[in-house]
Amino acid sequence: MKRLLFYTPLISILIACAKRDFSENETFTGNGENQEIEEVLSPLDFDTNPEDIIGNVATYRATETVLTDLIHTKLEVNFDWQKCYLNGLATLTAKPHFHDTDSLILDAKGMDILSVKMNAKDLSYTYDSSYLRIKLDRLYNRNESYTVSIQYTSKPNERSTSGSQAITSDKGLYFINPSGENKNVMPQIWTQGETEASSVWFPTIDAPNIKTTQEIYITVDAKYSTLSNGKLVSSKVNSNGTRTDYWKQDLPHAPYLFMMAVGEFKVVKDTYTRLDGTKMEVNYYVEPKWEPYAKAIFGETPEMIGYFSKLLNYEFPWDKYHQIVVRDYVSGAMENTGAVIFGDYVYKTSRELLDNNDQSTIAHELFHHWFGDLVTCESWSNLPLNESFANYSQYLWDEYRFGIDEADYQAGKEADGYYQSAQMQGYHDLIWFDYSDKEQMFDGHSYNKGGRILHMLRNYLGDDAFFSGMSQYLKENQFQPAEFHQLRLAFEKVSGEDLNWFFNQWFLGSGHPVLKVSQEIDSLNHVVRLNVKQNQDLEVSPIYKLPVEIAIHDNSGITLHKIVIDDIDETFEFTINGNLNCLVFDNQQMLLAKITETKPVEHYQYQYYNVKRYKARRDALLFGTKGATKEAEKLILDALNDPFWGIRMTAIEKCSKLTGENKNTALEKIKLLATQDQNSSVRESAVTFLVYNSESETVEQLLVERLSTDSSYMVLSSCLSNLQEINPELAFEKARSLENENSSTMLAGVAQIYGSLGNAEEFKFFQSIFLQGKVIGFDEVGAMNAFTFFVMRNAFDVLQESIDIFTHLKNNGAFYTKLFLPQNVNYILSALDELLIELEEEKTALQKTGNSSSTDQLNKQLDFLILMKSKYNNLLD
Ligand SMILES: [Zn+2]
Repeated sequence: MKRLLFYTPLISILIACAKRDFSENETFTGNGENQEIEEVLSPLDFDTNPEDIIGNVATYRATETVLTDLIHTKLEVNFDWQKCYLNGLATLTAKPHFHDTDSLILDAKGMDILSVKMNAKDLSYTYDSSYLRIKLDRLYNRNESYTVSIQYTSKPNERSTSGSQAITSDKGLYFINPSGENKNVMPQIWTQGETEASSVWFPTIDAPNIKTTQEIYITVDAKYSTLSNGKLVSSKVNSNGTRTDYWKQDLPHAPYLFMMAVGEFKVVKDTYTRLDGTKMEVNYYVEPKWEPYAKAIFGETPEMIGYFSKLLNYEFPWDKYHQIVVRDYVSGAMENTGAVIFGDYVYKTSRELLDNNDQSTIAHELFHHWFGDLVTCESWSNLPLNESFANYSQYLWDEYRFGIDEADYQAGKEADGYYQSAQMQGYHDLIWFDYSDKEQMFDGHSYNKGGRILHMLRNYLGDDAFFSGMSQYLKENQFQPAEFHQLRLAFEKVSGEDLNWFFNQWFLGSGHPVLKVSQEIDSLNHVVRLNVKQNQDLEVSPIYKLPVEIAIHDNSGITLHKIVIDDIDETFEFTINGNLNCLVFDNQQMLLAKITETKPVEHYQYQYYNVKRYKARRDALLFGTKGATKEAEKLILDALNDPFWGIRMTAIEKCSKLTGENKNTALEKIKLLATQDQNSSVRESAVTFLVYNSESETVEQLLVERLSTDSSYMVLSSCLSNLQEINPELAFEKARSLENENSSTMLAGVAQIYGSLGNAEEFKFFQSIFLQGKVIGFDEVGAMNAFTFFVMRNAFDVLQESIDIFTHLKNNGAFYTKLFLPQNVNYILSALDELLIELEEEKTALQKTGNSSSTDQLNKQLDFLILMKSKYNNLLD
């Protein structure tokens, strides 16, 4: 799954079941390492559980013991939208895994169990709201399968939760706006299984090392579309006006990948042609308003499926590949087999897609269909077998689609995300056997660090062995659970090499190398000595074995040397011909390591012009521009023309240190970038640079010009807030001209301006964006924060009617809006307290002067504020 990290001016949080992109500028809290969570013991935790016999080792998270093989799951469901119930009949075919048994133990969370039958005869059972323990009609051995039918009602909203965590993401089954009361949100039902929440909506063995084939009959009102795993076999109209859709998947997968969604979705059809020429449906389920943009958002999917199928030498194994966008999703996206769910942040108009797209997330979920869905981590401790690969697929797609610079740039952000995550949550082994809560596995280790580790393995083995090893692993473990040793064995089989050293330090170890790299040129002996020290904390991390490539640039050209660092302090010697122009440590720029390197500034300057990889050029720009030399200034000016946008952005930042004629040259160039660069981030950086480095008149002219011509909403938002600094009135006027744009992001930008400059008249703008649902997802949170400032600035005019907006957001806001609403309300409450104190003081002063008419006026205001305080307090209930 792909966890989303977002940030707001108030706080950033991290939740379960979404991909966490820990990257720079983003902070998070939550799931802290000190959190003590009462873990429910395994679903198989009853008297025959072997773990009980050997004594429960509390800190070791063993893989679930398999007592029963679940062979097939047949579900027949319909819904009570008013009560938010699912009425279900589950028909499960199973057999003892090895030992004879007369019982079947299932996970079934918070249900009403109505009956349990075998061949129409009742079976006895016990049920405690978590586990359904069924006594079979007799003892079965491992060669005998049996079928039981369970009639049940799933009541996700009535489940009592442990209270130790804000459990909003393990409901399993979600009814969104079921009564249709909120006109802005299409009523819908969807599910979220990972980690162990599928058992809220059907009884199953809810563990990642279980696999079952699946069929589901979903009966709904005829106006709804449905989506589930597998193929849509039939759609039958019933005599009562309902329709029953029958979805079937003959290939087995884990229960957490089961999925179902219902709503008035539009289905935009697309097709993937397999390598053998057969066709497969690739459909996009979106709300009607987004139908025109579905292909712009998801249209690269068929190309991606083909690319990954070839790369892995393993054709996409499932029946179809549909993607759906739902409201109030509790996560980023989820790789349900052939039926992937995304949160509504992916809704973007073609114009919004100019600034950023969600292809990384699309690639991530798709890649899970091999790593996660086809071969599944056998326990949550082994989650990196799913998430590291999905994370690395983002690199693979960027490399293929946007080029190696883009891939390396994003890889740097991924690495930063890991460092940040580890710093805040602590270091642990990648394969983490002693987590305190399984949700902790979804962190910057399993995703970001794992992805970087795979990249190092690829560099070490070479592309051929690396991709063959991945293919080998898939073929050997297809439709089965796996643990990380199986991955190692596959790479060993292909490469012929013992890889324990690599897997031990990276998969079973914590932390990362902290390297100090320095060089000494011995001209007399024509050698350069490279010293490498491993400075990581050896209490936490091992001494690493690091094969790296060194590039020596001298008068004879470039010579490559492979070295292996495996001690804490080592020196390597390389011959140089004539002058050493530059030594590049880790020439492939692939190490996940904190590296402090000492080398001459002129070598960095040489590096910029002669070493291709993004990170080498970026380091050169950062460290080769020290001092006000003409070479340093030339490098900055040249980097403004770099083919990669990320370098051009860094070069713009560096221009502030230029002097004299160079500064003028840079300003001219940056003016061109501000208007002509193809990349909106570069244009935005260029505009911002000019704001701080030009005459205010020309800046104003530029901002106004950009505001009327730039295609990018990101640039427009930035221009607006820059204009606000130098000419608030004009910014306000420009905001007005943008308040009808069809862009949630742009409207959130306008809201920022109105938040600090708007008066009572702008209330109707806020009313329309919130009540008509014009801002969605995270934009709604940003706009709500702006609204809070707006309310405080216009307290007496808008406090009263703003309650309706906050009430609307409280009841109908997106997931994060609801999460942050109390903070906004509390902010207003404390501001009201301050205002009350001020007015009381004013009143006391007035009473001394005996001015009774002014006192009356003040008393009215005080009464009003006290009334408002109690009403805003009600919002916190
Ligand atoms: Zn994922």
